Amino acid sequence: MSILTQDAARLLDAADPLRSLRDRFLLPDGLIYLDGNSLGALPAATPALVDNVMRQQWGDDLISSWNKHDWIGAPQRIGAKIASLIGSMAHEVIVADSVSINLVKLVAGALSLRPGRRVILSEPGNFPTDLYMVQGLAELGLCELRLAPADQLVNALDQDVALLLLTHVHYKSACLHDMPALTKAAHDVGALALWDLSHSTGAVPVNLNESGADLAVGCGYKYLNGGPGAPAFLFVAERHQAAIRQPLSGWMGHSDPFAFEDDYRPASGMQRMLAGTPPILALAALEAGVDLIAEAGVPELFSKAKALSQLLCDGLLAVGTRHGLKLESPADPSQRGSHIAFSHPEAHALTQALIARGVVGDFRAPDILRLGIAPAILSYQDVARAITIMADVLDTGAWDQPDYRRRHAVT
Ligand SMILES: *Cc1c(COP(=O)(O)O)cnc(C)c1O
Repeated sequence: MSILTQDAARLLDAADPLRSLRDRFLLPDGLIYLDGNSLGALPAATPALVDNVMRQQWGDDLISSWNKHDWIGAPQRIGAKIASLIGSMAHEVIVADSVSINLVKLVAGALSLRPGRRVILSEPGNFPTDLYMVQGLAELGLCELRLAPADQLVNALDQDVALLLLTHVHYKSACLHDMPALTKAAHDVGALALWDLSHSTGAVPVNLNESGADLAVGCGYKYLNGGPGAPAFLFVAERHQAAIRQPLSGWMGHSDPFAFEDDYRPASGMQRMLAGTPPILALAALEAGVDLIAEAGVPELFSKAKALSQLLCDGLLAVGTRHGLKLESPADPSQRGSHIAFSHPEAHALTQALIARGVVGDFRAPDILRLGIAPAILSYQDVARAITIMADVLDTGAWDQPDYRRRHAVT
């Protein structure tokens, strides 16, 4: 395995069609940010756009902005833009709430579409909130959670299963599930499939409609660069929209919110997936991020991410294997999402030592160093420098300091 040199990296950067995207983000000079999969970077356009919504729209136009600036249409408008990134139709996606809340709506929604079935099938080690939200619904007596490892999911599908609930790109290992095959397996037993696209949207090509997916949710603050706690989105295939019901039946999902009726009547289409008032300032930031990613193009981003991640992976293994660094993601870049996971017995201290040297990745318990490849902000020279810095930290044992062992509330 040859390690990427700075000279080779310079040539690759010069030939990179996405190289100018980096300047469309505000990032500290010299920082190598390998955490765009956890909190996406700040697009340069975002502060002015949010400032405008705040000062002109909120400040001057006040409540008239709901109509005048189409605040009320923002969840659908931004949903339509996200739809183009995930292979769905514009009217199948809406932006609202967090992924966690949207999971409640769609898991309960799936149960409403499959009366008589109670089982939600997922895999152990799925993103915790996906499992926790189902456990909350199970405590209400609405369903039961069944877990089966990835290679036994198909066997665990039976006539009791209402919904197969999976995350497309695993948050830790970056393993990619075969969305069309697993969706078909669910359909073969009469179940529905719900895909969590949090680590896919804006990073990995997804085609919900071609895959036959029924339902999906995804995150706004990762590869969509929507800002901390950005609103999430949900997708319901057109064929289910008339029949699906969701229990968070707030007024914004009513068919005529401003009639102020006592009785809930669900709106048609995706509007019934709304609960309360949309967060307009947060939506303005999300829209700027989505516009930038849509402009760059997901297939282009993913092919750069694969090239970067392969070079990073080869380089880190070349310098790290003798120090106990081990690849925990699939070795084939087309079998993984846009991040890579390595295990190391001192992964936490190692992550902190890298952060102290300007290489920002994250630690995932118990022993994973997770490096996100957000290709919009990363250059080949960043990857070459990250390899050099990792080699230095491992060769000198610089990670071995009490400070680097101290755990913070957020890893
Ligand atoms: C980040 C992430 C979430 C986030 O959920 P929120 O409720 O929006 O915080 C959910 N699922 C997966 C798989 C994630 O990676």
